[in-house]
Amino acid sequence: NKTVASNFIKNIVVEDLESGNYQQIVTRFPPEPNGYLHIGHAKSIVLNFELADEFKGKTNLRFDDTNPLKEDTEYVESIKEDVKWLGYDWDNLCFASNYFAEIYERAVLLIKKGHAYVDDLSAEQIREYRGTLTAPGKESPYRNRTVEENLELFEQMKQGKFKDGEKVVRAKIDMASPNINMRDPLIYRISYATHHNTGNEWCVYPLYAFAHPLEDAIEGVTHSICTLEFEDQRPFYNWVVEQCEMESRPKQIEFARLNLTNMVMSKRKLKQLVDEGVVDGWDDPRMPTISGLRRKGYTPEAIRTFCREIGVAKSNSLVDAQMLEHFIREDLKLKAPRTMGVIQPLKLVITNYPEGQVEMLEAENNPENPEMGTRQIPFSREIYIERDDFMEDPPKGYHRLFPGNEVRLKHAYFVKCNEVIKDELGQVTEIHCTYDPETKSGSGFTGRKVKGTIHWVEATQSIPAEFRLYEPLILDDDQDEEKSFLENINEHSMEVLQGFVEPNMKTAKSQDKFQFFRHGYFNVDPKHTTEDKIVFNRIVSLKSSFKI
Ligand code: ATP
Ligand code: MG
Ligand code: MG
Repeated sequence: NKTVASNFIKNIVVEDLESGNYQQIVTRFPPEPNGYLHIGHAKSIVLNFELADEFKGKTNLRFDDTNPLKEDTEYVESIKEDVKWLGYDWDNLCFASNYFAEIYERAVLLIKKGHAYVDDLSAEQIREYRGTLTAPGKESPYRNRTVEENLELFEQMKQGKFKDGEKVVRAKIDMASPNINMRDPLIYRISYATHHNTGNEWCVYPLYAFAHPLEDAIEGVTHSICTLEFEDQRPFYNWVVEQCEMESRPKQIEFARLNLTNMVMSKRKLKQLVDEGVVDGWDDPRMPTISGLRRKGYTPEAIRTFCREIGVAKSNSLVDAQMLEHFIREDLKLKAPRTMGVIQPLKLVITNYPEGQVEMLEAENNPENPEMGTRQIPFSREIYIERDDFMEDPPKGYHRLFPGNEVRLKHAYFVKCNEVIKDELGQVTEIHCTYDPETKSGSGFTGRKVKGTIHWVEATQSIPAEFRLYEPLILDDDQDEEKSFLENINEHSMEVLQGFVEPNMKTAKSQDKFQFFRHGYFNVDPKHTTEDKIVFNRIVSLKSSFKI
């Protein structure tokens, strides 16, 4: 078991266990099923599950489904899948909606105690009456309804006697509180939308801030970890637990949410990208969603390590996306077989190689991990090389192929360029070379040296492949809420190229990962790969300037 690096939350847990405040800790991961999980959620998942794990506690996966309008079972299913894929098992699978009856009863209790009332003000009036940071709020004229009247009205709300928005229930706390969240916050509202779990059973729904502390208490959660925005909600959280007379006393603890450079990390915005067709679904490899990262080729191990390493802090910050890339390179370095793929092919003919002859060459599968063994790759008179690896008129310092120059073909021979073939438009269509049989890779040849080594695939047996290269979807780090993030979409976030890969790639399966020599790490796309064409998503290129 992984030990969570020490952080302020862990310290709180240690103290609580030592002081006997709690016998066993219970955490929860509480997504609202209104979208797919993203890398920010992964931070919360890793934190909650690993904290409980380390202290032999429990973690619930709880769907915080109190808003029927935005929630859907499709999201519930995807969230379960993603949490499992990340490598975690929940102790209990819970739905806030399963507690609707109990939450309703707790609201009734508040009314009976004179701590809640039915308000007829409109949403706009309520906002107006709430006041500002510098000005106290104003009490609603409905605030002093009798307990009997409130109970009766709430019952009628539940029976569907009123329209959406006609009445709400509010906690009766303090309209002059310096904390605006304590100025009679809403606890129940009317909605006739069909709920993904409870259907049309209810037409009154608890608000998040009221439901959440109750959900935690009902489940016996001890440490309710949430993001910093909820810090000002903590007094209300505690008020609810106390006034509703919950037996169990959960503790809310806030930590900084994860923000990554060049990424938007809000389900609302991600949904917009999906709905407007900017991306190919929630699992588009450019999305920061768990399903997008999975399809791009990220592994659960890399995501988990990243989440552990970024740490848990009390102030918001922006993490460089290159740090995430660093961890997938580290994870795949020894795991992913190395192979050759030509992304932008140019034909190379070896004029002194016998026509019709094919020889098999031995290539190591991972020089950094000899246990991965070797494979046989065909070599013949015609091969493809990368268009970029040839220049007719190269600048100084170019060590790849140009007329008169000799290079090494990885795993094969030295070849020397003698002739350039062009079409009517002057485009290079083929280059003609000669090879030197003496220089065979592995033969120990030391006669002379060449400065460039390039990759290639044999032309007649290679398989066509599509390569999808990605750049950030969002252009800059401007996280300014005012400006629409849609204005920052990178038009060139995906480049699709048609090339060739080694014939042994025939056996590659969806989600297999490879390192293509010089190009980086790639994943077999599970959505667009067909019988005839294998599609590779580039996970990450080989090098980065990022140091950890
Ligand atoms: P979003 O703004 O993306 O909709 P959310 O907080 O509304 O995020 P929830 O479904 O409520 O989404 O999140 C479930 C849990 O994940 C919460 O406990 C929340 O604090 C946590 N979480 C969400 N986004 C992040 C993030 N960027 N970094 C860390 N934790 C996060
Ligand atoms: Mg939320
Ligand atoms: Mg949300």
